[in-house]
Amino acid sequence: MVLNKNHQERIEKVDLDSAIDIAIIGGGPAGLSLAYCLQKINPKIDYLIFEKGHVGESFQQMPDHLTLITPPKANLLPGDFNFFSYVKYFFNTERWTAHRFANYLKDYQKRFHLKIQENTKIEKVELSEDKKYFILHTQDKKIPCRRVVSATGYFSFPISVASNAINGFTGPIIHFQQFKNSDQLNRFGNRVLIIGKRLSAGQVIRECVAAGMEVSLLVRSPIQFTSGPWKLRQFLRFVWEIESLFLLLQKPLSNIFPNLKKFSKIVVPMEAGDGKEAIEKGLVAVYNKVLNLQHQTILLEDQNNNKQQKIFDVVVETTGFCAGLPHLNKIIDQNTLLKLEQGLFIFKSQESEIKAFSIGNIAGLYQLGREGIVDRRSRFLRGIRSDSKILAKILCTK
Ligand SMILES: Cc1cc2nc3c(=O)[nH]c(=O)nc-3n(C[C@H](O)[C@H](O)[C@H](O)COP(=O)(O)OP(=O)(O)OC[C@H]3O[C@@H](n4cnc5c(N)ncnc54)[C@H](O)[C@@H]3O)c2cc1C
Repeated sequence: MVLNKNHQERIEKVDLDSAIDIAIIGGGPAGLSLAYCLQKINPKIDYLIFEKGHVGESFQQMPDHLTLITPPKANLLPGDFNFFSYVKYFFNTERWTAHRFANYLKDYQKRFHLKIQENTKIEKVELSEDKKYFILHTQDKKIPCRRVVSATGYFSFPISVASNAINGFTGPIIHFQQFKNSDQLNRFGNRVLIIGKRLSAGQVIRECVAAGMEVSLLVRSPIQFTSGPWKLRQFLRFVWEIESLFLLLQKPLSNIFPNLKKFSKIVVPMEAGDGKEAIEKGLVAVYNKVLNLQHQTILLEDQNNNKQQKIFDVVVETTGFCAGLPHLNKIIDQNTLLKLEQGLFIFKSQESEIKAFSIGNIAGLYQLGREGIVDRRSRFLRGIRSDSKILAKILCTK
């Protein structure tokens, strides 16, 4: 931890005159990248990251066997991504585990001496009476600052559908956010129902089938798969270049083809490979509807209207995440907050970049790491890498 005495003193008492210039909430890839870029432009800049857990907390909490889908070239943060690393990793399609990436983030923070205060959850952000300062509230402290960047992650809050899809199920229900490995599920029994059909559903299917569990899947619409592992690897090898070219052409092309914006949203389908094979071989039973439910016994129907009654020991929801910004509840109206959480603010190329990062029309309040900020990759590591440079410039010139 690199907190100096000066920072510590200012945190203890709410002394508005000595407020921190830039408070960054969240010590994930976005918060760290921004800190690096700020320091690079102005080594004396006054900023501090507040992290509720430890550096890279989200990746530390991910499933034991989860690997990043993007290759190292697309994952390296600012300062580490340059011509030499680009050449070094050009053909490298290695899949880093989430835990390895969490260690990379820890190392990144240490190497670049990024200022962070861990174990500090920001519960609430408020404006001072004269509206010139922000006051960050932790459980027991009030921290004054002039500008705030919320970098708390686009994937931080689990979306749960259990209350609709299997209302009344009395067994354990685990969201992918808490999922660690198949042993954790096997402790309840080996009959598992997975709800969802995207990347994380594929991860749980793979692990449960390999562990010999009886797996069923509940989906609302047909499953889409990525192309096969070999083709996917070839695509990932050039994903950064393909996207960069697309981004370069997007502005002029969207004048000619207005519908191009439709393709801007990136949807990540279920990965082909072991999971797909298990579904195709019938090792995983796929259902579309719940007809009836009593305790842990569910009557299900598949797409051919075949009905089957099954008992499940555990349900896993792989139904995605949303941004979750409860700390901004007090300063942003509910409607805007909801749109932000659902990623409904998409940057329009004719808007100023500063507007893209600003939230709730509040001067000095920004967000980094959300769907659709400056480019279509803003919620992925490679988008965060480029967005953080732009936001750092904005913050350093104001
Ligand atoms: C399962 C999964 C796999 C993914 N795989 C990839 C991939 O392969 N490639 C890719 O490019 N992207 C991937 N992503 C997207 C990935 O989330 C983002 O690329 C990246 O994590 C976003 O970084 P971030 O810093 O915005 O958010 P996070 O990594 O979530 O960091 C946010 C940080 O804020 C902290 N925090 C939250 N609230 C508070 C608070 N109130 N006070 C203080 N601290 C707080 C959290 O503890 C966390 O450390 C994946 C996402 C998931 C969920």
